[in-house]
Amino acid sequence: MKKMVVLGGGESGRGTAILAHQKGYEVFVSDKGSISEAHQSVFDELGIAWEEQQHSLDKILSADVVMKSPGIPSTVPVVEALNKAKVKIVSEIEFACQYTTAKIIGVTGSNGKTTTTLLLHHLLKEAGLAVGLAGNIGTSFAQQVAENDYDIYVLEISSFQLDDIHTFAPDYAILTNITPDHLDRYNFDFSQYVSAKMKITQHQNQQQFFLFNADDEVVVEAVKAAPPIAKQHPFGWQLDTIPSTSVADDHHFKIQESTSTTMINTTQFPLQGRHNLLNAMAAATVAHLLDVSKASIRESFANFTAVEHRLEKVLKIQNRTYINDSKATNVNATFYALESMEGPTVWIVGGVDKGNDYTSLLPLVREKVKAIICLGVDNEKIISSFSPVVDLLVETQSMHDAVKMAHQLADKKEYVLLSPACASFDLFQNYEDRGQQFKAAVREL
Ligand code: ADP
Repeated sequence: MKKMVVLGGGESGRGTAILAHQKGYEVFVSDKGSISEAHQSVFDELGIAWEEQQHSLDKILSADVVMKSPGIPSTVPVVEALNKAKVKIVSEIEFACQYTTAKIIGVTGSNGKTTTTLLLHHLLKEAGLAVGLAGNIGTSFAQQVAENDYDIYVLEISSFQLDDIHTFAPDYAILTNITPDHLDRYNFDFSQYVSAKMKITQHQNQQQFFLFNADDEVVVEAVKAAPPIAKQHPFGWQLDTIPSTSVADDHHFKIQESTSTTMINTTQFPLQGRHNLLNAMAAATVAHLLDVSKASIRESFANFTAVEHRLEKVLKIQNRTYINDSKATNVNATFYALESMEGPTVWIVGGVDKGNDYTSLLPLVREKVKAIICLGVDNEKIISSFSPVVDLLVETQSMHDAVKMAHQLADKKEYVLLSPACASFDLFQNYEDRGQQFKAAVREL
């Protein structure tokens, strides 16, 4: 019996253990932290051995294959020991993809993965296709492969999932953009992070499609440096129409594929911001390539609802609009949030700085932001970066105070935007908690 060790007993770990068990592996789950009771009982019911608060190296090193959960860095001692012993390490998607014949769509990038994945899933589902949604969202891909029978999967794929792939090749790969993020996991080397993202196309063949953001210079450079074998399909705002492209204007997408041109009207698309039109264009292009009609795409656009914590309109109070963009944990996401503001804005920003360079925000902040409310333990960098362009900067230490202050500073027809450009761990559990606290504070006004 082949032995599979699963490192990490979270969502990916549970799914992989279930699938590996089903496929006849002897499975052992090991977690350095604790494993939830719900997962423990799943393992117990299936007779899967597990341990928590430790890694029993002798058992782990005897594996034929190890699935490393995406949250575990490759620098921890157990992974170093596995590498030294030359034990094969795979990610969950790598392991699971060999057990399904479904078409796979993989969405990666620094920003826009969740939005694009959810939208594409929506477009395909509304068109009547049997489509599953997995990856970083909801139930793990591995568990769905074990338990469901979809024709297509849309997977949100982080660079951590791509780190340990050896053969994984989606039929359609979407690369939304590449901007600095998570550099701590890549030795603070941007080129390593770029390479990790480009792995989405590394094993694709000539029949498969690689859709990439042609407005993103880093992506374009990476494609030039190592041209993918897959059919390339760039998308963007400013593009020469070559045989295979998707180009946006303010009201349409023009999808060019060989000699056929399809125009899709976007006036009903409800999400704000230019970045969301790029996400929508990538999603619509894949739907189109899968033969979903343009009428169906247009209708599904109209009934797609906003994704929580991403430029989410919370409430209008006394003609002031409150927007929750708590998921903006890096500068590029906040750039698009500020760009989409249609009037003077009180901007709530701050948290744990991941080495941010705020230069690209300065023109937008000068143009749109009337006051900055810093919400973080250490606000020094925000104050020094933006005080040359904004007169009013206030420091706060709780969401409640930040929202109260914002309400005082915003006038009628103005906006209050939470778009922190930073991680949330100094004052909040995570970005969801930060967004929920914002919404609760707004409702209390
Ligand atoms: P991810 O799953 O990659 O983190 P999300 O869809 O959750 O992406 O969005 C994260 C943040 O980035 C949100 O603040 C959102 O408004 C912003 N965003 C969404 N799409 C893009 C894009 N294409 N480019 C830049 N920022 C984006």
